[in-house]
Amino acid sequence: MASEISTSPVAASVAVLVPLALPEPYDYAVPAGLTLSPGDYVVVPLGAQQLIGVVWGPAAGGFDRKKLKAVAERLDAPPMPEALRRFIDWISGYTLAPRGSVLRLAIRAPGALEPPRLRIAYRLTDARPARMTPARLRVVETAGDGFARTIRELAGEAGVSDGVVRGLVEAGALAAVEMPAEAPFPAPEPDTVGMVLAPDQAEAAAVLVARVAEDRFSATLLDGVTGSGKTEVYFEAVAEALRRGRQVLILLPEIALTQQFLDRFEGRFGCRPAEWHSDLSTRERARVWRGVAEARARVVVGARSALFLPFSELGLIIVDEEHEAAFKQEDGVPYHARDMAVVRASLGAFPIVLSSATPSLETVVNADQGRYRRLRLEARHGVAEMPSIEAIDMRRDPPERGRWLSPRLVIEMTRALEAGEQAMLFLNRRGYAPLTLCRTCGHRFECPQCSSWLVEHRFRRELACHHCGYTAPVPTACPACGEEDALVACGPGVERIAEEVTALFPQARIAVISSDNLRGPAAHRAAFAAIEAREVDIIVGTQIVAKGHHFPWLTLVGVVDADLGLENGDLRAAERTFQLLQQVAGRAGRAERPGRVLLQTYMPDHSVMRALVSGDRDTFLDREAQARARVHLPPFGRLVGVVVAAADADLARRTAREMARRVPKAEEVSVLGPAPAPMALLRGRTRLRFLVKAGRNVNVQAFMQAWLGPIKLPTAVRVSVDIDPYSFM
Ligand SMILES: [Zn+2]
Ligand SMILES: [Zn+2]
Repeated sequence: MASEISTSPVAASVAVLVPLALPEPYDYAVPAGLTLSPGDYVVVPLGAQQLIGVVWGPAAGGFDRKKLKAVAERLDAPPMPEALRRFIDWISGYTLAPRGSVLRLAIRAPGALEPPRLRIAYRLTDARPARMTPARLRVVETAGDGFARTIRELAGEAGVSDGVVRGLVEAGALAAVEMPAEAPFPAPEPDTVGMVLAPDQAEAAAVLVARVAEDRFSATLLDGVTGSGKTEVYFEAVAEALRRGRQVLILLPEIALTQQFLDRFEGRFGCRPAEWHSDLSTRERARVWRGVAEARARVVVGARSALFLPFSELGLIIVDEEHEAAFKQEDGVPYHARDMAVVRASLGAFPIVLSSATPSLETVVNADQGRYRRLRLEARHGVAEMPSIEAIDMRRDPPERGRWLSPRLVIEMTRALEAGEQAMLFLNRRGYAPLTLCRTCGHRFECPQCSSWLVEHRFRRELACHHCGYTAPVPTACPACGEEDALVACGPGVERIAEEVTALFPQARIAVISSDNLRGPAAHRAAFAAIEAREVDIIVGTQIVAKGHHFPWLTLVGVVDADLGLENGDLRAAERTFQLLQQVAGRAGRAERPGRVLLQTYMPDHSVMRALVSGDRDTFLDREAQARARVHLPPFGRLVGVVVAAADADLARRTAREMARRVPKAEEVSVLGPAPAPMALLRGRTRLRFLVKAGRNVNVQAFMQAWLGPIKLPTAVRVSVDIDPYSFM
C-alpha cells in the first residue's frame, strides 16, 4: 500500500507564490486531474498552514518531484492577469521588498476567493391560491411588478407577516429563484447629455480623449488652479475609456475621497463608481475585488492600494492630487502609488493622467523634460477670481501674550462674520498644545516609547503620543517635582485656537475639524454638511479641511502658523508647505464672493511666502528645481533611506556600525551615517539611519543588494530599506 502512495502519478509541477515575506515562489506538485495555468489562485500547504497562493509559472525544478507537496485545490476565480503579475515582480525588484509581501497587497480581500453567496428570492407565478385573503392579495399585488424579492422583503412591502408569504409559496403562487447575495455594479454611462465644458476645458478634454484613443502608454500632467474644473476634464477621458470597453482606476488620497467627489461622479456618469478605501467592510472589500476581477466593476475610485486590484481590462489610470504625500506608503512595502501607477500604465500599455493644482516637482520636471505632456487650465470657472493672499508679519503685528491670532486677522474675521460669511482658521496640529511642561522644574512630558513630546488633548483630558498611540491622563501634579498646578501648555493646537476664538467671538458657532473630533466618514459628512448649510460661522481645522471641499460661504481663510511645515527640514519641506497652503487658500471664495487669505508668518521673505503672495508658482518651482539640481537631490539624483531598529539599543548601534564597515565602493554613490534617526526612539525601538545618495542613473537596487545581501543580520534587528524616501524621520 505504501508504495502505491509514493508512486502516485504526478502530472506536473508549478511554482506558487504565497503572500508571505518570501522572495521566490515555491514548487508544488499538481495532482492528477487538475489543470493549472499561470495566474490561477490555489490553496497550498506550507508547514502546518494552508495558504492561498497564485500560480506564478513553471516549477523551478531541482527538487525530487516525489517529495514535492501537492496543490490542495484550485479556487474558482478569474486568474490573476499577467499585467498584475508582472507589476508585482516589478515592484518587488524596485522596492527590494520580497515578492510575497507585494503579492499580499494584491490579495488583501478575505472572502473574495470564496464562491459568491446566493440568496433565495421569490417571483410571482401564474398560479393563484384557491383561497385568496386580503393579506394574500396585497402580496400578489406587490409581487405583480415582476421583481424577485426575499420573503422578508415581500412581507415588509406588503405589510403582512412572513407566514402569509410562505403560504403563497406553498400554494405555488410564488416560485423561488437564486439571486446573487451582493449588490450588482451599475454601469457608468459615458454619454450623458447636458455636459457643457468651457472652451479651455473642452480643448484639454479633447487632448485627453485623443490620448485614450491612441491606446498606448502616455503620461499627461493636468495642471490647473483650484476651481478650474480638472475633474470635469478628466471625466471626459474616463468616458472615452468606457466607450472603448476598458476599466478605469481613479486614484485619490484617502482624505480627498469625499462624498462631494462621489456625487460629482454620479452627476456625470449616472451612478456610483466602485469604491476602495480603508473604511470598507470586509464583505464590501470582497465584493469590489471580485467585481474588478470579473470586470463587472468598470470604474474604481480608490486610495493607493486600489492599484493592486486584479483589473483585466484596465485602460486608463487617473491620479488626482498627484502631489500628495499620502500616495507614499511608509510601512510594509514602501512604494509611491503615483510612481507605481505610471509603471502599471506602462506595463499595461495604456495612458495615465496626473492631476493637480500644485504638481510635485518630480512631475513638473518630467513635464519640462518632455517625458510627460502638460495641459494647463488657468481660469476658475463659475467662481470669482483667485483669492487674494497676504502675509501678516508676526514680528510687526504680534498677537497678545498667550494668544495666537494677530489683531489684523481678528479684524478681518469680524468683518467676514458681520457680512454673514464664514471664516476658517487653519492649523495643521491636532490637540490643544504640542508640548506640556512644568513651570517649576522644567519637566517636559515625553512619550516613554518614542522621541516625541506628548500632545495635550483637552477635550479628552489626556496626553497622547501621535506616533505610537500611548496615552496618559493629564496629572494634577508634576511627576518630577511634585508641584501642584504647575503644568503649562506650550504652543497651540486646533483645540487651543478654538478656545481663543470662543473668547473673541462668544456669539459665533464654531466647528473644530480634526481627526480627533471626527471619527469615521459619517461624522465627516455631517460636519461638512453643517458648514455648507451655514450652521457654522468659524471653522478651525487641520489638513482635513484643506482637500477638495467646496464651502460656498467661506470667504476668509487665516493660516495660524504658515511657518509650521518649514520646521521639518527635509528636502521637500518648502515644496510641501507651498502645496498645502496653496490648497488651503483655494478653499476661500469659491462661489460669487471673492476670497481672502491671510498667512501668519515670522518669515514673510521666505520663498514659500513670496510665491504664495505673488501667485508665482512657476518661479518658485524653478528655484526649487535649481537648488535640488545643484546638490543632486531628487529628481536630479537618487536617495535610499535605511533604518536599523532594535529594542536593544546597543545591538542596534553595533549592527549599524558593522553595516557601515561593509559599504561597497561604487561610482557616484555615497552612504551617509549611521546617525541616530530624528525619531531615535519609536515604539520602544532604538533607530539609526543611513542615507544613500546616488547619481540619477545609478542602479541603486543593485548597489543595495551588493551592500546588504551578504550581511547576516541578528534576528532581533530590523533593517528597512526605502527607495525614494519621503520621510526622513
Ligand atoms: Zn516639576
Ligand atoms: Zn509614542
